[in-house]
Amino acid sequence: MPWIPRGLREGIVTSRYPRRLDNYGPGFRASVTITRGTTTGDELNLAAAACPTGAITVVDADPSLDRGACILCGRCVQMLPRVFRFSPAIETSSILRTRLVVPEPENDASLAAVRGELARRVRALRRSVHLRHVDAGSDGSDEWEIAALTNPVYDVQRLGIYFTASPRHADILLVTGLGSAGMAEPLRRTFDAMPNPKVVIAAGVDAIGGGLIGQGYASNGGVGSLVPVDVFIPGAPASPFTLLHGILLAINLLPARIAQTGPLTGTAP
Ligand code: SF4
Repeated sequence: MPWIPRGLREGIVTSRYPRRLDNYGPGFRASVTITRGTTTGDELNLAAAACPTGAITVVDADPSLDRGACILCGRCVQMLPRVFRFSPAIETSSILRTRLVVPEPENDASLAAVRGELARRVRALRRSVHLRHVDAGSDGSDEWEIAALTNPVYDVQRLGIYFTASPRHADILLVTGLGSAGMAEPLRRTFDAMPNPKVVIAAGVDAIGGGLIGQGYASNGGVGSLVPVDVFIPGAPASPFTLLHGILLAINLLPARIAQTGPLTGTAP
């Protein structure tokens, strides 16, 4: 944990992120990366078959992994450590659902269009933003990580980010959970009650695509069919830094280094 020695050295534990990148330590399961060309198609197909959420696709012995479906269970890492590896990298959120698939597909033009539209909408938010969090059928893990955002280590208030209990005061709708049938109407009503401009964030793989459950009689398989999602934050659950990266992506407050180059590093070096 980088902040323990820093806290002892500087007397303050609060992260400098996003001014300075503050990854978790080695071995932290923030995301899975892929190293290509190190094994056969048969082995890759076995790993794909073992993935409980179907996050791995293999085409002509070339693997890709959908972080929007990966629950970080580690089966693929255990089976094929030469190919799949946990990474502590935190900047994995995206404003395009397709960019959660690593290695990234080529789509810079569409990314620029979406980024431009989002920037236009959030320009009016200016100096501080208020988030309304809605649990639309979560297992509770996402909520633990969201609660950590306000502790002294992450301290999102230093960035002008606040949580609000009222959708009338909210700029950002932060949604967790798979979009359960019972929460569909409350979620829609919360979205409708928010003033414009507003931004919707799907936090965690459950909110993105339903996670392990997927779509069923009580699940909408993610919240995308209920509210228009602007930012996708992968993870099961997403860590506080990954959540913070997604929130900053939503409000266009990331430093130029991320905004220009994009955060994803899907293929291991
Ligand atoms: S870590 Fe992710 S990609 Fe690998 S098997 Fe588990 S869910 Fe699938």
